[in-house]
Amino acid sequence: MSDIANLDVFGGAACLDFANTLDGRGTESPEEYLHTYADLVSWGRYAGVLDESTARRLTGDHPAVLRTALRLREAIFQVFVALGRGQAAPTDSLATVQARYAEAMAVARLAPDGDGFDWRFDGDDPGRAWWPLAVSAVRLLTAGPLDRVKVCAAEAGCIGLFVDTSKNRSRRWCTMDGCGVDAKVQRQARRRRDARTA
Ligand SMILES: [Zn+2]
Repeated sequence: MSDIANLDVFGGAACLDFANTLDGRGTESPEEYLHTYADLVSWGRYAGVLDESTARRLTGDHPAVLRTALRLREAIFQVFVALGRGQAAPTDSLATVQARYAEAMAVARLAPDGDGFDWRFDGDDPGRAWWPLAVSAVRLLTAGPLDRVKVCAAEAGCIGLFVDTSKNRSRRWCTMDGCGVDAKVQRQARRRRDARTA
């Protein structure tokens, strides 16, 4: 079983981190981190989507909720991988995000947050594990910065999604010590090979 604590949280937006819980999408054996509802809750806590007391209360096995969450995750992935590649977002995936967002908003409460207000969720409904992720996706879609959503340059293996917050928009890799290192190793191997054949 994949240990959630091994998963890097590098997306810069909760919805993209959520999309990245299916890791190595471009490889022959993508790694699924969310096998059970409990995994979804643990990841939510790990990624900062759920506070600790909420995560403790969201117990039990809820396969239907997990399925809904994973369908939302795949819709989020399809929307943002398209946008990250400069393509149009697929309408069916957008419709899924919209529908889940509408469900979440129906139970959300507007509450003071810092100098302003933000949406809050109360109670122990199992859906609480994914509601904030629908909100995160729509927030990124409506408020951006969409032009900073990128697909890891190691596309063939990783297809990790992230918001590039670097000043000169130069970030190419999901993680420098993951795909960034792999790319460096490949470049060095290529240089050595080229040097030999030159
Ligand atoms: Zn990557």
